[in-house]
Amino acid sequence: MNIHEHQAKELLSSYGVTVPLGAVAFTPAEAGAAAASIMEKTGGHMVIIKAQIHAGGRGKGSFREHPDAGLAGVNVVASGQTSLMGERMTELAEKMLGSTLVTVQTGPSGKVVNRVLLEAAVDIAQELYLAIQLDRRIARPVLLASTEGGVEIEQVAAESPEKLHTEVIDPAVGIRPFQLRRLAGRLGLTGKAASSYVDLARRLVAAAGELDTELLEINPLVINASGEALALDAKLSFEDNALYRHPEIAGLRDESEEEPAETVARKAGLNYVKLDGRIGCMVNGAGLAMATMDTVEHYGGSPANFLDVGGDTDEERVATGFRIITADPNVRGIFVNIFGGIVHCDVIAKGVLAATEQVGLSVPLVVRLEGTNVELGRRIIAESGLGVISATNMAEGARRIVELCR
Ligand code: ADP
Ligand code: MG
Repeated sequence: MNIHEHQAKELLSSYGVTVPLGAVAFTPAEAGAAAASIMEKTGGHMVIIKAQIHAGGRGKGSFREHPDAGLAGVNVVASGQTSLMGERMTELAEKMLGSTLVTVQTGPSGKVVNRVLLEAAVDIAQELYLAIQLDRRIARPVLLASTEGGVEIEQVAAESPEKLHTEVIDPAVGIRPFQLRRLAGRLGLTGKAASSYVDLARRLVAAAGELDTELLEINPLVINASGEALALDAKLSFEDNALYRHPEIAGLRDESEEEPAETVARKAGLNYVKLDGRIGCMVNGAGLAMATMDTVEHYGGSPANFLDVGGDTDEERVATGFRIITADPNVRGIFVNIFGGIVHCDVIAKGVLAATEQVGLSVPLVVRLEGTNVELGRRIIAESGLGVISATNMAEGARRIVELCR
């Protein structure tokens, strides 16, 4: 699960991570008032307005509705007077809120901006990169750091890997002070900047561990003109399986940023991930679901989704899953592949029927059922009059649905 930058900064502040003074706004008037108040509190003349969407690249992004307005997802306003600052920010926020921001990370369809972050402008001396993520090969979190802040890290890794420094974090003892000092040295930091960096990085590592993040990315992490390290951007992605330990974080979810079908699925207790292919797959068990996707690919097809209806599923949940698949306009055919251990095949058959009665069925459907109550399940499907093609094993089912979708 992802959260917004302003939420991430609030969470990180509670770990003592330094961030610029800021406030979130949902309306133009709120944005204007927040900008004026930031100016008064800091005595600075520049305030930043940042679109809050679950995607990066905002600084270089543009709005679909304002293509030549010189408006990006991150903008700066300078003014000597708080009243003028308030007016200018209100106008800017009016343009940004409700408009669609397109960045390299949103893809061409972009994302609608529903909130903005107003923030004191920082006098940047140096932009760095820092991330904490899991390295699955060594099964440990690693700290990644680079002097190339503000740049896509994939580009740094590809073009100048020598600028990417790594420290492995021992989950039992955390990161050790010498590792952080070594890192600061490799980044060329000295004096106050080095000690401030070490302190900030230590707090970020603690936050990542306690909050169960999959990814914590600060890009850029800046050193300001007086040698202090600050988090200027913040991205936090949480491990979904650990969210039950953090109800306050689960409450930060913004459904408007998520794939609508995935939200419906999550609420129904289904494990669904939308993909770009053409063949809808409904399977029980994550392992079988993965194998089904591979088999579909093997026969030249492309899966439209991953869907695990679970072990102790019921008719309603199966029907919800089936409706989600049929609602995807990319789907040209559906493959139901069930190995009934705990789940009963007749429950699956009834769920599929209930869904097709409601929403109809306009694409070919191949069903492979095996296991508990298989005879009953097959009979329900056969007598449904839906023209369902049944397969006796996974390979045959995958091959048939791929053929039918051609
Ligand atoms: P994104 O990664 O989506 O482009 P960032 O938050 O990284 O958005 O902002 C883009 C750039 O804008 C940063 O690299 C930095 O140069 C500048 N910036 C962002 N916030 C501030 C701020 N509070 N003060 C000064 N510059 C900022
Ligand atoms: Mg950034």
